[in-house]
Amino acid sequence: MASCIFCKIIKGDIPCFKLFESDKTLAFLDINPLSRGHALVIPKFHGEKLTDIPDEHLAEILPIAKRLVVATGAEEYNILQNNGRGAHQEVGHVHFHMIPKPNAKEGLGISWPQQ
Ligand code: ADP
Repeated sequence: MASCIFCKIIKGDIPCFKLFESDKTLAFLDINPLSRGHALVIPKFHGEKLTDIPDEHLAEILPIAKRLVVATGAEEYNILQNNGRGAHQEVGHVHFHMIPKPNAKEGLGISWPQQ
């Protein structure tokens, strides 16, 4: 969708720190991280809420979020996905937050793979 900020990131019109990309999925660092390594995993298919996304466009999301958790070395983390303004969704393109807990491991030594 032309006005969607995450669609612009997918198209490459807005830069991001890319962590993973396939034909259906993109993962990148959150621009306003709640902790070191806070990442977003999104379907490339545009939809505002989880129920707007066909199943085949969701299949990789949790495996990729899991892979990112492993890469951080975090032993404690949140996987969050908000739907609707009343549920604190600010960006209207489905996204899953992967938030390592900063206290889980002193100074997470994250070494992301090359983009
Ligand atoms: P909330 O801000 O309440 O977490 P969302 O669940 O909609 O609401 O999260 C949107 C997330 O997108 C925020 O964490 C925000 O920092 C992130 N974000 C917004 N614009 C960008 C961008 N250009 N690049 C990376 N992350 C972004």
